[in-house]
Amino acid sequence: MLDDYMESQDIPYTLLKNSVVNNKLSHAYLIDGSNYEKAFDFVMAFVKLIVCNNHYSNNNLCSQCNICKRIDDGNYTDVKIIESDSLVIKKEQLMDLQNSFSLTSLEGNKRVYVIKDCEKMNKQASNSLLKFLEEPCDNIIAILFTNNVSSLLSTIISRCQVIKLNNNKVFNNKAVYNFASIFCSKKEDIDFFVNDESKSKMIDDVISFIKYYEENGLDSLIYVKKLCYNIFSSREDSLMGISLVLNFYNDVLRYKFGLGNYFYQEYIYLIEDISNRNSLNKILNKIELCYNKYSDLKYNLNVNLLIDDLIIRMGECDECS
Ligand SMILES: [Zn+2]
Repeated sequence: MLDDYMESQDIPYTLLKNSVVNNKLSHAYLIDGSNYEKAFDFVMAFVKLIVCNNHYSNNNLCSQCNICKRIDDGNYTDVKIIESDSLVIKKEQLMDLQNSFSLTSLEGNKRVYVIKDCEKMNKQASNSLLKFLEEPCDNIIAILFTNNVSSLLSTIISRCQVIKLNNNKVFNNKAVYNFASIFCSKKEDIDFFVNDESKSKMIDDVISFIKYYEENGLDSLIYVKKLCYNIFSSREDSLMGISLVLNFYNDVLRYKFGLGNYFYQEYIYLIEDISNRNSLNKILNKIELCYNKYSDLKYNLNVNLLIDDLIIRMGECDECS
């Protein structure tokens, strides 16, 4: 059941479940399961949710339902799993799929094909898939599954809705979600935002900057600047970046006062460390600095000036007691 992943894969779960419930499925999904050991089980749970109507009627009994059992046994004609028998997925396998799906469905419902380890498609197979993706049929859903998204053709990635599964490791998903809620009001925008990899990268960059700065101060000014340039590129990114820095020091302040509910819950070790390094006064000064820079940026401060000024004033905050 996809419901089994409600917590461990909270965001992908919500996104996919809603698209089935609201009948707004995409024609093609790319599920990136790197570092999540149960990733393919998750994919198959999603397939069953798409195909099996019993998921809503007899809910928890679905593991015993005829349709789901046939999917597990590989006997359900409207679900096809393509995988490599050796090192590559060949064009012939894609052609066979297209032929069998060109016939009328025996089950009369949605049809799904899953390409397992789709990075193993050779060039001819990829081209054949691309053609298939370019002419979507209403009732056919493609699910590409990979543990290695970076080796896929960008033309394929761009035709799919990309779903990144949470790692088994602690991952910055909660922070991305909190981040989204600052800048988006509509549910669809939030979903789009949290699945945009550049946003979680921005959080990583902000964390690297703060961690480096707090541990080394301005000893290596050039390196601090370099870290800053990762975050503050365009004006729009800078507004996001500065609000991320601001939220971090707000967490540090909350920690000082023993309050919970952190924006960066996953980085609690760092929040604790930085709280120990900074007096209350320093934290308040840094928060005030971020507020000021945020409004300066809104009223047109040049981005390069912002970086220089921010760094100098961070240093000044640390000179006070
Ligand atoms: Zn079922």
